[in-house]
Amino acid sequence: MIPFLDLKKINLRHEEAILNSVHKVLHSGWYILGEEVKSFESEFADYCGTKYALGVANGLDGLELIIRAYDIGPGDEIIVPSNTYIASILSISANGATPVLVEPNLLTYNLDPNKIEESITPNTKAILVVHLYGQACNMGPIQNIAEKYNLKIIEDCAQAHGAIYADRKVGNLGDAAAFSFYPGKNLGALGDGGAITTNDETLYSNLHALRNYGSHKKYENLYKGYNSRLDELQAPILSEKLKFLDLDNDYRRNIASYYLNNINNEHIVLPYVEEEPESHVWHVFVVRTSNRSDFIRYMNDNEIQTMIHYPIPPHKQEAYKEWNELTFPISEKIHSEIVSLPISPVLDMEDVKRIVEVVNEYRPH
Ligand SMILES: *Cc1c(COP(=O)(O)O)cnc(C)c1O
Repeated sequence: MIPFLDLKKINLRHEEAILNSVHKVLHSGWYILGEEVKSFESEFADYCGTKYALGVANGLDGLELIIRAYDIGPGDEIIVPSNTYIASILSISANGATPVLVEPNLLTYNLDPNKIEESITPNTKAILVVHLYGQACNMGPIQNIAEKYNLKIIEDCAQAHGAIYADRKVGNLGDAAAFSFYPGKNLGALGDGGAITTNDETLYSNLHALRNYGSHKKYENLYKGYNSRLDELQAPILSEKLKFLDLDNDYRRNIASYYLNNINNEHIVLPYVEEEPESHVWHVFVVRTSNRSDFIRYMNDNEIQTMIHYPIPPHKQEAYKEWNELTFPISEKIHSEIVSLPISPVLDMEDVKRIVEVVNEYRPH
């Protein structure tokens, strides 16, 4: 079986460095918010090109804390794509604000800038852009809209570490951004982890307190804060893996371009890259097919594992019962047709060739 994603193989490339990291932290005697987190934050800020990076416990917390730090809450609205992963939306709900779902572009699966303005009301405070599947959003028009209506841009970069739009990395394209280091992401820890990037000094300072019980100084609490910190043990592992992120992303791009150039089957719709190749880091390679369960069965019979990102749109989830009657036709079409092919920094090119052959021979039953 060609696995969808071999995380063990990805991490064992760094076995020695990871074991050394554990040794270093163990012997430091300092296990929360120490030198390792500080170093990683500064390396990650340099990588993204932002003034600040702040380690947090996970990607969802990163988004939730940004919204909280901007004081966006009950009565406020945030625009968010209707086809995103549920976490983007949960971060808004958790603050008591209202998520306003906007349909994506069917080609890129990213927020359609032409549909944003009609959803803006006097209560709109921010646009939460999601660089879905690893592709940077078309930010030019979104930045113009944000400026015109005085809205914050919050980036969800959980799937797009290292993607570049107009010479700037994601994480540096809005007012503040959240990253996830969940193990399966392009930059993954050996557990949960996340980071916030921003150039806004005041926001950074607020977040610095918010992630640590609302305090800058031990036992003095400015805000009703959270406990949401990047683990000291994960930080040096992330520092090590960060050195290889661009190489890994290049390798993902090679696989993607092989798929794009060689998959040729009228029953399979390939992904579309809107800008230069660096705008996409291929967290997942998502195709569409009208008889998805048939295709998945066929791939499985041919020893190739696939996944669905994601099978149910947020507005059809039980958690958002209040939206179940709404219709978002583009999202619904996407969610019923998408399927992800294997892609990763450790997938052999021989396996990629085999996947292409199998996909090209597919005929619906
Ligand atoms: C993974 C992911 C998140 C959440 O990250 P966690 O670290 O798992 O909390 C948020 N948004 C998107 C788009 C994601 O893919």
